[in-house]
Amino acid sequence: TLSDRLSGIFGKLRGKGKLTDADIDATAREIRLALLEADVALPVVKAFIASLKERARGAEVSQALNPAQQIIKIVNEELIQILGGEGRRLQFAKQPPTVIMLAGLQGSGKTTLAGKLSRWLKGQGHQPLLVACDLQRPNAVNQLQVLAQRAGVDVYAPEPGNGVGDPVQVARDSIEHAKRTAKDVVIVDTAGRLGIDTEMMRQAADIRDAVDPDEVIFVIDAMVGQDAVRTAEAFRDGVGITGVVLSKLDGDARGGAALSVRHVTGQPILFASTGEKLEDFDVFHPDRMAGRILDMGDLLTLIEQAEQAFDEDQKEKMASKLLGGEQFTLEDFLDQLIAVRRMGPIANIIGMMPGMGQLKGQLDELDDSHFDRVTAIIRSMTPGERTNPKVINGSRRLRIANGSGVTVMDVNQLLNRFTEAQKMMKQMTGMMGLPGARRSAT
Ligand code: GDP
Ligand code: MG
Repeated sequence: TLSDRLSGIFGKLRGKGKLTDADIDATAREIRLALLEADVALPVVKAFIASLKERARGAEVSQALNPAQQIIKIVNEELIQILGGEGRRLQFAKQPPTVIMLAGLQGSGKTTLAGKLSRWLKGQGHQPLLVACDLQRPNAVNQLQVLAQRAGVDVYAPEPGNGVGDPVQVARDSIEHAKRTAKDVVIVDTAGRLGIDTEMMRQAADIRDAVDPDEVIFVIDAMVGQDAVRTAEAFRDGVGITGVVLSKLDGDARGGAALSVRHVTGQPILFASTGEKLEDFDVFHPDRMAGRILDMGDLLTLIEQAEQAFDEDQKEKMASKLLGGEQFTLEDFLDQLIAVRRMGPIANIIGMMPGMGQLKGQLDELDDSHFDRVTAIIRSMTPGERTNPKVINGSRRLRIANGSGVTVMDVNQLLNRFTEAQKMMKQMTGMMGLPGARRSAT
């Protein structure tokens, strides 16, 4: 399955200290193959891989995560994106009744969905009416009636014994019936064929025109492979759809349909069906589906926690240092610089650094290359110099300047700035009435 393939790919990244471009390319190639084999449509795969590569190479590398975890995190987020990001709710008409029309191939799960949706809507306080417009299969009306009874809702169907009724007429009449009986949501079940078929498409379009639906929901069996794309395109062009429901997600779905259908239709997946019972049904959550595909729930939680813990750890170290009345050293300054550089453009984040907000004025003129220079200067100092910059005399300044490829003036400037920063840190802890600050002041 796609899950197995992906976890195999991620496994190879484990133990790597750093991802080279070659690593990223190789990983991207394997993920590409895994997606194609899971019947994900080619344009979707291409977009996915392009985004993955860009992000993996980009600056969003986090110290909290190892390379395998970083890739997993990106893949997870991209999956969520492709599946629809935040997701969308059902649209209701301003003036009831809201009309929901179901379309899709025979066996895709339309009639079952009609039952599930009506039960769900009823649970939300609505008064749904089911409309039987599949008059082709002998048992279709009966099937809908059985489901409606289980859901506790009403069905509108042609009188039996009048021969085969006209589904378009039934659909049209059902709206009046809904108004008369104070129903606020009308769910129109339609007939499907085994394959795409002009007759079926025309009937669906006629029913659509008769009821002017607020939603046309395309129901697709998640188990179908490459056919998903062609079918979705045919319904998109033939009927026009506003939303998708994935059915049979409880089966051994390869994930291809789920990942392709949103891109192909340009419409969101609204609900997921996960079984034959009426309650096997829920609003579609892109993040949960991505989690299902990745099948790494625990790992994803771990990644989240690692990132949070890293953040907390940094803040705590700094706070306890200041609380303990310890000096803010160049070593700390360097730590913060490195942490900050990982986070992105400097202008956005200066204010986020503990204590560094005070320095904003002084650092404002610094761009990223200045930051890198400062990092280089501090790295050229010995540990002793970093803790106690006072020992850095003229000849050591020259050595540091040479070692980091800057001028002595740059070194002087940094040291002056740092001394000011150090003073400011002391004042700040003093102002906050921290015990450590008082202790160090005496
Ligand atoms: P329709 O032809 O589009 O109306 O499809 P049906 O609603 O009649 O469903 C076809 C078959 O698929 C029936 O046997 C349903 O019980 C079954 N089915 C529908 N939805 C699901 C689902 O989410 N999971 C499973 N396992 N079976 C489903
Ligand atoms: Mg049906």
